[in-house]
This record gives sequence, structure tokens and C-alpha cells, in this order.
Amino acid sequence: MAEMPVLHSRRSLTLRFDIPISKTHEFWNALKEGRFVTTKCSKCGNVSFPPQADCPKCMKNEFVWVNVGPEATLLTFTQVQVAPASFTSNDSYIIAIGEFPGSLKVLAWLEGVEPKKVKPGMKLRVEARASKEGNPYYVFLPN
Ligand SMILES: [Zn+2]
Repeated sequence: MAEMPVLHSRRSLTLRFDIPISKTHEFWNALKEGRFVTTKCSKCGNVSFPPQADCPKCMKNEFVWVNVGPEATLLTFTQVQVAPASFTSNDSYIIAIGEFPGSLKVLAWLEGVEPKKVKPGMKLRVEARASKEGNPYYVFLPN
């Protein structure tokens, strides 16, 4: 019997930063050290994610980096099936929305837990990863 090709379409979520590229290293360096940071407007205190140089609320461009993680709570999730039915147990993944203190919501892969055991309200932590190409990204793990 001929072998069915396995479809691998595992991709990293891309994060679009509305911030000068020279500033994004703050975010990734913090993540490598186990911290999850984003920007907070110096004027009105609005916290944005992804990090933003211009405040979407008051339009000022003065901001500070604030530590919001790495611990979050699972708000909701979806299990994505990307392979033919016979391979789903090997090649599905979970995309989760985690909520950090301050009601900040972040979308990322959830790894390290069986889909059956995933429940809204469970504690997560965010962790740095690098793709095969060396691009940094982050995932949620059960905490
Ligand atoms: Zn502001």
C-alpha cells in the first residue's frame, strides 16, 4: 500500500509590530529572560499589545516598557486540525488566547498539554522559542 503524504503546515504566528524595528529587541530580549513585556503610554497609561510606539488612545508617542508576564490565564482556545483525518492525532495544534494581569489578551500556540486537558481558566506561562529559520516567537505552556 502506498504511503499517504503527511501534511506539515505548522507555522509560527507572525506578530506585527507597530513600532520601529530597532525597538522590538526590547521585547524579544525580555522574552529570552523569561519576562513578557509590552508598551505602556507615558501620558495616559494605556497598555498595548503588540508593542506600539504611538498610543492608540491618546496618539502620544512616549512610552515605557512594562512587565506583564510571563504568567497568564487561558481565556479561550481552538484546536486546529491541519492534516488529513487519519493523521490528526499527530499533527494538530492549539491556538490559545491568554489573558495577562491588566486584561491584556495575547494569541499564541499552546504546547505541552493534551487537547483533552485544556480548560479555560487554566494557568499558563509564555516562553520564547525560535523557528528553524531562527525567527523568535513565543508559545504558551501549562504553568
Ligand atoms: Zn496614551
